[in-house]
Amino acid sequence: MELLQTPGQGRARYPLAADTLKAVKALAVFPSDRRFGVIDHPEPAISSPTEVRLRMLDVGICGTDKEIVAFEYGTPPSGSPYLVIGHESLGEVIETGAAVKRLKPGDLAVPSVRRPCDDPNCIACRSGRQDFCYSGRFTERGINQRHGFLCEFVVEEECYLNPVPRPLRDVAVLVEPLTIAEKGVTQLWQVQQRLPWAEAGRNSHRALVLGGGPVGLLGAMKLVKEGFDTTVYSRTHASGDLPDLVSSFGAKFVNAETSNLEQLAQSIGGIDVVYEAVGASQLAFETMPFLGTNGVFIFTGVPGRKGPVSIDTDTLMRDYVLKNQVVFGTVNASLQSFADAIADLGAFLERWPAAVRSLVSRRFPIEQASEPLLGKAGGIKNVIALSQ
Ligand SMILES: [Zn+2]
Ligand SMILES: [Zn+2]
Repeated sequence: MELLQTPGQGRARYPLAADTLKAVKALAVFPSDRRFGVIDHPEPAISSPTEVRLRMLDVGICGTDKEIVAFEYGTPPSGSPYLVIGHESLGEVIETGAAVKRLKPGDLAVPSVRRPCDDPNCIACRSGRQDFCYSGRFTERGINQRHGFLCEFVVEEECYLNPVPRPLRDVAVLVEPLTIAEKGVTQLWQVQQRLPWAEAGRNSHRALVLGGGPVGLLGAMKLVKEGFDTTVYSRTHASGDLPDLVSSFGAKFVNAETSNLEQLAQSIGGIDVVYEAVGASQLAFETMPFLGTNGVFIFTGVPGRKGPVSIDTDTLMRDYVLKNQVVFGTVNASLQSFADAIADLGAFLERWPAAVRSLVSRRFPIEQASEPLLGKAGGIKNVIALSQ
């Protein structure tokens, strides 16, 4: 096996004597060969005092990973024929550089995904907010020009690692997808500061979540915790237990197979917030006319590019103006959103332990990763377990 590149791409490569190089197992996609599979990847080693070496425990599989192994998305690091995938993860610290302060061996940590661009004028990246990058030249571990976390061992800068309390061991792989809701709800409250009577939990009451996948369900848990009367609108095909699961954490479930949007809106009776988590643009735009006065519509999905559809733009625009509506999209996430997600996941686990645990459907060994990656596994969140 030719050893191609370490995960420390972007920094200088650090050549190791061939006899000290060990290979570790990783799941990689070779876009130009249109194949993916388990490979031998050079074991990453700490090369600066601020780095941390992690033994990866869990890596979650999502729609982005499925697109990457279908060669629709994802870019290897420059010079590498392959990209190690995996961005939703949990690792255990096994070694720290001399200057690492917040983490020690044995600690659990979830890495963030996006890394800043190199544009000196990108005020977002220069402020540590690469989730708002202007230049578009950001990179992302496991997605865009940086190897990801679906690898037995990973090295990462301490500043991108988020410490996780040990009791969250079994569910912390949900932190990264939960950061979507955390950043979305933070911005929701920022927007609603425009209402002079706004106080968290007071001014907006009813939330609609579109989609019953992991992002939708974690978003619904967050909205319930924030005090919203929350309804999840979804088909049930992913999990037959979805209605029971949703009601077990205090939200309502409306089945998209048996209720249309009029019936849905009637059953809610005035929607203050829509949290879109399905990536179906037509459904999203068809839901907009049911958004209430002073309402906020949050997009989180990334739809594939299908053909154009016809929508009544006059009605939408009239509503935006005459009802003071705000529509925004949000991509995860800042370190604060990771800290919020870790705190909230702990709170969810205390309130709804069975519901939170049931979001993780199955764990697969890396050799069986193609089952969830090719969409054959069903369930809510499937996880590759790299280590116990
Ligand atoms: Zn993901
Ligand atoms: Zn930037």
